[in-house]
This record gives sequence, structure tokens and C-alpha cells, in this order.
Amino acid sequence: MRPDILNPLFAEVETLDGVGPKLKKPLEKLGLARVKDVAYHLPDRFVTRRSIANLDEGAEGEQIVVALTPIEHRSPRSGRGPYRVLAQDEIGNICALTYFGRASYTAKKQLPVGEKRWVAGRLDRYGDMLQIVHPDHVMSESGEGLGHLVEPVYGLSEGLTQPGSPGWQRRRWRSCPNCPNGSSRRSWIANNGPAGATRCTSRTNIRMRPRARDRLAYDELLANSLALMLVRSENRRRQGQALKGDGRLRDRLQLPFPLTGAQSRSIAEIEGDMAQESPMLRLLQGDVGAGKTVVALEAMLVANEAGAQAALLAPTEILARQHFETLRKMASPTGVQVALLTGRDKGRARESILMGLLDGSIDIVVGTHAIFQDTVSYRNLALVVIDEQHRFGVGQRLMLTQKGRRAPHVLAMTATPIPRTLTLAQYGEMDVSKLDEMPPGRQPIDTRVVALERLAEVVDGVARHIETGQQAYWVCPMVRESETDDLAAAEQRYETLKLRFGGDVVLVHGQLRPEEKDAAMERFASGQAKVLVATTVIEVGVDVPNATLMVIEAAERFGLAQLHQLRGRVGRGSEKSTCLLLRGDALSETGKRRLALMRETQDGFRIAEEDLELRGGGELLGTRQSGDTPFNVATLEQIQKLLPLAHDDARLLMERDGGLTGERGEAARVLLYLFERDFGVKTLRGG
Ligand code: ADP
Ligand code: MG
Repeated sequence: MRPDILNPLFAEVETLDGVGPKLKKPLEKLGLARVKDVAYHLPDRFVTRRSIANLDEGAEGEQIVVALTPIEHRSPRSGRGPYRVLAQDEIGNICALTYFGRASYTAKKQLPVGEKRWVAGRLDRYGDMLQIVHPDHVMSESGEGLGHLVEPVYGLSEGLTQPGSPGWQRRRWRSCPNCPNGSSRRSWIANNGPAGATRCTSRTNIRMRPRARDRLAYDELLANSLALMLVRSENRRRQGQALKGDGRLRDRLQLPFPLTGAQSRSIAEIEGDMAQESPMLRLLQGDVGAGKTVVALEAMLVANEAGAQAALLAPTEILARQHFETLRKMASPTGVQVALLTGRDKGRARESILMGLLDGSIDIVVGTHAIFQDTVSYRNLALVVIDEQHRFGVGQRLMLTQKGRRAPHVLAMTATPIPRTLTLAQYGEMDVSKLDEMPPGRQPIDTRVVALERLAEVVDGVARHIETGQQAYWVCPMVRESETDDLAAAEQRYETLKLRFGGDVVLVHGQLRPEEKDAAMERFASGQAKVLVATTVIEVGVDVPNATLMVIEAAERFGLAQLHQLRGRVGRGSEKSTCLLLRGDALSETGKRRLALMRETQDGFRIAEEDLELRGGGELLGTRQSGDTPFNVATLEQIQKLLPLAHDDARLLMERDGGLTGERGEAARVLLYLFERDFGVKTLRGG
């Protein structure tokens, strides 16, 4: 049970003073549904503005404060255009103050024609006009002070404003208790729990801010390490089954290729683990296309040879289907029964699968989390393979597997080469097998960086490409701020490509119904459709060897690991493949280097390590957005710096008080609940 003192934190955001139904929606869009989410929604960065006497002194892109006098209000010509207020500085330069949507009401009130105002915001250019979009502050009194004001900038969604003025962020901890501080040996901020620390992160006290953030990140890392250790030690305590395969099923496989050395080695390691009574907990790490599926199949056949069942858990419906098809084909000479079970199977079909799992006539089941629902029982499930999408913590998945009397062996597979530090964060102390050798005969993917201005040429290139009978992916820009914008961008691009390619184009995005998504994927996989326009949903899974061209728009906005994953969708057949990274024109130095790295190498491990390095350079941005880690608070940089400490501390705590019953242990329990790692607590008696 969650400790009572956390209840206010887990209450809905609406329980906060000043947050009503109107704010609730935009907050939820940001994933901030509970008080706790808001509390841990930390600023992305801070702005410091410069006071300037006139616009000539300001640079484009700079945060400024300047005195302006409105001279004209311009309503939008069409319904959806922006509302503009033209304003003049002291020497006659004109600047447009631009407002979208409802913000225009504010503009009308705040900016009467002929009255001087102090305006703070980011100076930009629109065509040949200077502009400030949605100024952060408009003041009638002397606004010089704004120039020295350091303000936090939060990730927002439509309907929210920066809480520079009292607002939703300020209220977050007011009604909250101080959480116990005793869970760690280190006191980051003396006598001040997380409540104080989050307050500190939005303060402008530059000396305290990084420490406060570290403190919060450390808590999260500690909770994570501890949860993984608890699961691990629980797993060690449980009895598994020693599975000895005699090779009779594996001998019947007719693979069209010899296994690579790395594959054979991994299979041997897995077989060794499965022959033990203590349950296996092994991570199979291998780049996209390294050939993990075959390894999984061999492991599952070992279980079948020993008279037991195996399950493969996929992160998405699409991927589950694909795995099912692949495995069924590969396994057909062996005669084992392979079944598919997803949340979408209903009625009779579902009943018959459940029956087969219970009576043991199904040897291998592939599916989404539906395969672990309470209503699903197995005759003898002895191996669970988790095709892990890296963004999900593996610990939670492990708990899913704890249903049988005897613990099944677990093989987790990750397609994302993650840096060593992150491996520790994600998987704790699992044993690791690495597929560090690609199957032979793979051709390198010709990767090029192309400016978006050359879009027309790129479209021509796609046309030539599909004339040869091959297919192409077109991945749409990721718009960081919101999902609706992502969708808008994809739909827009789809429309333009449809003008050129007609019915040869299909669109897939996250908001389609599963059947629609499958139908579109099916059209592409079968070769009916030639171009697949997609948001990043195709990142996972899809295997269409005839698709040999990938276009990624606004490539600079993607994480490198993600780009690498996307690129891995091509280069799967024998034809030469190409990847075009379209870039916008405002590319930072780091941005350039990141894309250059993609051009330079196809080694996922190297990309992961260097990405961490390139991003580590002071970027505050939380990792939630990038989805690379299971953390909401801790940034990549903090993970590198603090995870080893947190890990040591967790281990010390486990050694001294593995049942978490002492004072420190109790505090640790609170922490586990706070960071939603309570699956760790549940391994404990009385948890
Ligand atoms: P992963 O899941 O690691 O991304 P897959 O298991 O989907 O990779 O394998 C990618 C492709 O490589 C598949 O078409 C598979 O048949 C093929 N493949 C796997 N192992 C080998 C091998 N040893 N030699 C040649 N091709 C292989
Ligand atoms: Mg795979």
C-alpha cells in the first residue's frame, strides 16, 4: 500500500488550488495528470534577458527587453492567421508583436496604440520584419528590472503559459508534505526533502539550482536501482526449472544461413543459464538487424525440447504480429505450435488460444502484455522472452513474469544499443549477451544530409526510386511541443506526396485505430503501396526488405539513437539502401556534429556513446521527451554522474536492510512509491 503521506501527491492536478478543468487538459497533454507530475515538471532551461535601448542593439534570436509603442493593430486576414501589433522603438524601428489564437485578446488589452510599453521576449525575424512572438511580459511601468530577471522556462502545451506570474507551477508543493529524507546517505540539501528541492529548481538562485536538480535526480536513480535489485534478489530466491534441451527440435530447423559467431555464442550462454535451476535473467543486446529473433527462437525451442512452453512479449501489436509470422515460418519444420495472442483477440479465437496454453498444445505464444493477464494460464511456462522497447523499464515487465509457481527464465532483448551507464539503469545487474557481429553480406547504408530547401529534388529522387520497383519510407518531423503538431506535419506531407504518387502512398501514425494501422502497414508490406509516410511509430519492428530508401524530415530534432533505429528499417535486403536526413536551416554546431556522426558510422554502440557525450554538454532538457531512459527527472548527464553513487547506495542498503524495515528502509519504501517503482516493494513480505 502506498504510504499515506504520498496521497496528496498522487491526487489529480485539479486538487491543486487554482487548477480547474481549463488547465487540466493542457496539463494532461504534457503527461501531468497528478500533483506529483507537476511537482517534478522541472524547467527545461532558464532565460536571462538583456535590456536594450532600441532594436538595433538586439540580435536575432536574443532574449531582450525593450520599450516599444504600439502604432497599429492588425487582425488576421484569414480565420487562422496571427494577430499582429506593430510597434515602434525610440528611433523608429518597427517590430511586430505576434499572437496566435486566444492570446490576441490579451494583446488588445495590454497594447493600446500610442502608449509606451516594456516588452520582454525573443527577438526574431519574419520575412523582412522584426517580430516577437507571444512576448513573455508586457509592462507599463519601467521594465528595466526585467532585463536582470532570470526566469525558468517550462515545457508547455497549448493552453498553458509560462508560470512567470503566479500559476500552476507555483502551487505545486504548497499542499504537500515533506517526504522523508533519510533514504540516502548523502544529504544534498541539508534538512530539506524533495519538496524543498523542487522549489529550488525553479528559483533563480544559481548556486543552489544544480544541486537541487541533482538531489531529485539522485532520488529517482536510487529508487530505480533499488527496485531492480529487489526484483533481482527476489528472482534469485525463487525456484526455476532446469531445462535441458536435447536438440531434437533445433536440429530440424532449416535456416537459410549459418549463424554468426556472436549468435552461436549467445545461444550457448542462454542454454547454459536455462540448464540451471535458478531462473535466468539475461539481456540480449544487439543492434537492429543483428539477428536477435533467431536467438530467441533457439532459446524457446530449448524450452520446448524440455517439455515446457515459451512466451515472447512484444511492445506493440504490429511487432507482435510480425514476430508471430516470422517465428511461425521459421519454426514450421520443427512442428511446434506457435500462437498469437493480443488484446484484440476476442471471443472464440481467444478462447481456443487460452485453451491451448492451458492444456499445453501451444508451445510458443507471441503477444503483447495480454499474454500475462490474469485470465491467461499456462500448463508450464518456463521461458519468457521480452522484446524490450528500451523505453520501458524492464523491472516492471519482470514482475509480470512472476505468476507461476516456479519462476520462468527470462531473456530480455534490446534493439537499442545503449551506453554502458544506461544499461545499468535499465537492467540493473542482469547478465548480458552481446550480438556485436552483423550477419555477413550487409551493405552499408548510404547516408546523406540534405537541406530541406532541396525537397523537390528529394521527391524526384523518391519517384525514380519507386520506378525501379523498390519502396520507400518517409518519416515526418518530430515537433517537440506536441503530438497534435506531429500529426499535422505528417498529414500535410502525406497530402503533398499524394498529389505526386496518388494511391501509392499510405500514412501511418499513432492516432490511427489499430485496424487502420495494420491495414496501411499491410498495404505497404505486401508491396501494394510504395511509399509509407509515418510519424515515428515505424521505429519499432517493421521489416520490409524491399524498402531501401528512407527519408527523415527535420532529422536534427530526433535523438541519435532514434535516428539509428529508424535507419535500421532499411538495409535489410541485398539491395543497396539509402537514408536521406533532411535538415532545417537553423542547425546548431552540435546539431551538425550529430548528423555528421550518423553519416560517418553505422555502429549503434558508437552512436549511443557519442550521442551521450554530445548531449551531455549542458543541455538541461529532461529525458522524458527523448524516451531514451526510464527516467522523468534525471537527465543523461545526471545519470552518468549520479547513477554509480545511487547504485552503490542501493547496494549498501540492500546489504544492511534487504527487507527495508529499518528507518532508512522505510524511507526507501516511500521513495519507491514516489517514483512508481513499487513493483520493487511488492517483492517484499508485507509490501
Ligand atoms: P533484430 O531483431 O536483431 O533487429 P532480426 O532477427 O530481425 O534482427 O534479423 C534481421 C535479418 O537478418 C532477418 O531477415 C534475418 O533473417 C537475418 N539474419 C539473422 N541472422 C542471420 C545470419 N546469421 N546470417 C544472415 N542473415 C541473418
Ligand atoms: Mg527484432
